[in-house]
Amino acid sequence: MTKKFLVTGGAGFIGSAVVRKLISSTPHQVLVVDKLTYAGNLDSLKPVAGSDRYGFVQADIADAQRMHEVIGGYQPDVIMHLAAESHVDRSIDGPGEFVQTNVVGTFTLLQAALAYWSKLEPVRREAFRFHHISTDEVFGSLGAEGFFHEEYPYQPNSPYSASKAASDHFVRAWHHTYGLPTLITNCSNNYGPYHFPEKLIPLMILNALEGKPLPVYGKGDNVRDWLYVEDHAEALILVAEKGRVGENYNIGGWNERANIDVVRSICQLVDEMAPDQAIGPREKLITFVADRPGHDLRYAIDASKIERELGWRPAETFETGLRKTVAWYLQNQAWWERVRSGVYRGERLGVAV
Ligand code: NAD
Repeated sequence: MTKKFLVTGGAGFIGSAVVRKLISSTPHQVLVVDKLTYAGNLDSLKPVAGSDRYGFVQADIADAQRMHEVIGGYQPDVIMHLAAESHVDRSIDGPGEFVQTNVVGTFTLLQAALAYWSKLEPVRREAFRFHHISTDEVFGSLGAEGFFHEEYPYQPNSPYSASKAASDHFVRAWHHTYGLPTLITNCSNNYGPYHFPEKLIPLMILNALEGKPLPVYGKGDNVRDWLYVEDHAEALILVAEKGRVGENYNIGGWNERANIDVVRSICQLVDEMAPDQAIGPREKLITFVADRPGHDLRYAIDASKIERELGWRPAETFETGLRKTVAWYLQNQAWWERVRSGVYRGERLGVAV
């Protein structure tokens, strides 16, 4: 059955992967709702821009009137909520924006969704889903052992993860208190094409390519669990369509890597795929810098629930996904040059609101 998906944050890294997959692999309609902050990039939606099943609205999720208008006007079957401030370092420098978008914005969207949902006819009311997309960072930091499972206690440590934890709690409460049919997913670190170059993997690829220093926090021994963004997008669509209402699902690829090993792998791939004698072996560009305050040591996801209940499996290993990612940045210089120069922001002032 064809459904109407409303995707908040659809111009961001993961949201745009979800939208590209919804248009390429399903019969569904998609409306993106995005404020187009610095992280929103319409270039990442160019592959779907010509589809008559795709639409775009520039709006802030914290704008209650706009959310009521957009949701009421579009009449979605599914809301996938990805809009957020997402960069931990930015949350340390300026936490206010994170509270505003991630907490107040999610609350505002929930209220608009609830008002809309409560007036739907019974069949559509039953089928409606509000899918909130969140992070494994809400669980805090692991020692050397163990994994984050769905019952793991919330222990957020950064302003970013605290704001996401708060938003998860609001979504849970709107299900338990008002009966809104919600789903929550908590995913590990994503990487892949169209990733904003402030994040670890694209930053290292581009700096390695250009022979610039590769800054690594502390000794590089913090461990992250990596998932290729297209595997995440696939999992999200599966949960939105088949997940059990009111449930949480953890999503991860069982791919734990110390940051320094990730950077070394990138150096080797860039050396192999873009050799440059003037630069030489990229590993010598690695420079250790003062650690991020409150830097969580280790994240690792136990993804057995989504695997067992929904049959999801990631298609990529870290090695195959990283190779594809490096190849994508090498082949899509125009995309990242427009991001780094800021051109992508200036041009979109002409976007219809
Ligand atoms: P991103 O920063 O790339 O994109 C966020 C998008 O939200 C941007 O397009 C931005 O313009 C939009 N946005 C920001 N504030 C808004 C507002 N007030 N109203 C409307 N739109 C707004 O983020 P991402 O990496 O794609 O992450 C998407 C979601 O997935 C976030 O909720 C994040 O917490 C979660 N998540 C991310 C990761 C990861 O590794 N990137 C992992 C797990 C979960």
